[in-house]
Amino acid sequence: MGTRSVREGHIAVVGGGIVGLALGIEALERGNQVTIIERDDPPRGASVRNFGHCCVTAQGGIGLDRAIRSRRRWLDLSAQAGFWVGETGTMLIGRTDEECQVLAEFADRSSLPVDLLGPDQTLNALPGFAATDIQGAALLPMDLRTNPREALHCLQRWFAKQPKVTWMGATNCTSASEGVVHTNRGVIEADRVFLAVNHDVDRLAPESAHRFGVTRCVLQMLRVTPAEPMKCEPALLSGWSLLRYKGFDACPSLPLLRERLSAEYPEMIAADVNLMATQLPNGDLLLGDTHTRSQFPEPFSNEAWDELLLSHGARFLGQSSLMVRERWQGVYASAPEEFLVDHLDERTTAVSVTTGIGMTTAFGFAEDVLAA
Ligand SMILES: Cc1cc2nc3c(=O)[nH]c(=O)nc-3n(C[C@H](O)[C@H](O)[C@H](O)COP(=O)(O)OP(=O)(O)OC[C@H]3O[C@@H](n4cnc5c(N)ncnc54)[C@H](O)[C@@H]3O)c2cc1C
Repeated sequence: MGTRSVREGHIAVVGGGIVGLALGIEALERGNQVTIIERDDPPRGASVRNFGHCCVTAQGGIGLDRAIRSRRRWLDLSAQAGFWVGETGTMLIGRTDEECQVLAEFADRSSLPVDLLGPDQTLNALPGFAATDIQGAALLPMDLRTNPREALHCLQRWFAKQPKVTWMGATNCTSASEGVVHTNRGVIEADRVFLAVNHDVDRLAPESAHRFGVTRCVLQMLRVTPAEPMKCEPALLSGWSLLRYKGFDACPSLPLLRERLSAEYPEMIAADVNLMATQLPNGDLLLGDTHTRSQFPEPFSNEAWDELLLSHGARFLGQSSLMVRERWQGVYASAPEEFLVDHLDERTTAVSVTTGIGMTTAFGFAEDVLAA
């Protein structure tokens, strides 16, 4: 279906998470007037519930290209909007021969820098990290970190103040077509409308969601205080992360690792855990995460899964215990492809990052959506 070009008109974006913001920022730079329609005030979706990890190096295909371009944007925007983005890198910890083998294979294949470290180098780089089972690590220096709670709100406040931008918070969109957006606060007309509502694409554009096979992926997350002081600048990823990101898919030893982890830890496989952590400025850690997929997920958190995260997390980090400060669920759209772009009519386009990489790729994705 043909679409109207995105240049010097009025663009309405439904959804004020990172994808909606990225579209809004890109549309503004292209000379448009921009209206963002967001049902919450401030936004409370996946974009504030995540690790704040821009996991650039481990992406593959178009996701890698979008992640590299997003990386530049994060650094520029942190300076403009005044929030922290750290060039911290990612430390991928290897605790078995199989994990270290996959790390070595990835280092050979990656188009971005990957530094392989021995156990002592790894421990030296992570003060207070006292795990006893480290065999090696891979440092991915291009990766970034931010504090998602701070970053999204700073970006939102900064963007809402830009000339030619209208931010409509606490405004629920009920439908959109042919350049007309219906909301609980009236009707907005625009030259182009983008629906950037994450998993709720099935509410506003059910046929797109159906066609792209979108479902909801629900994650359990924890904020914990470590018993012993530790400092970890990089995002900390475990062998479980190797099973998850596209960049590792081509590593020949990955099937063996998957087999071993599945045989040894069936309960971690059942909870679909990606054991990882990022540290907040006060020393607390965002620890996660479990995954469960359903179009209509149950609202009940599984305590056994939190206990799994806590016991495996403490061992992974070399901590005697972790004190839970907060528990929450986050949801993202999940589909066989990583990105959804569907033109519903000449003026209306549904977009979504349909796997858990929206913080990493949103800005590159938005560039491509508006350039098309
Ligand atoms: C627990 C967790 C951890 C993650 N960790 C990472 C990570 O470390 N790195 C990474 O790259 N990605 C991560 N992700 C994925 C990433 O957070 C998402 O891909 C990204 O936030 C999606 O952005 P979004 O703007 O599409 O969604 P959201 O942030 O959910 O924004 C969608 C917005 O649309 C609004 N909305 C919905 N319906 C309507 C309506 N009808 N009218 C008006 N507004 C509406 C919602 O209120 C919401 O604010 C994680 C996700 C989760 C859940």
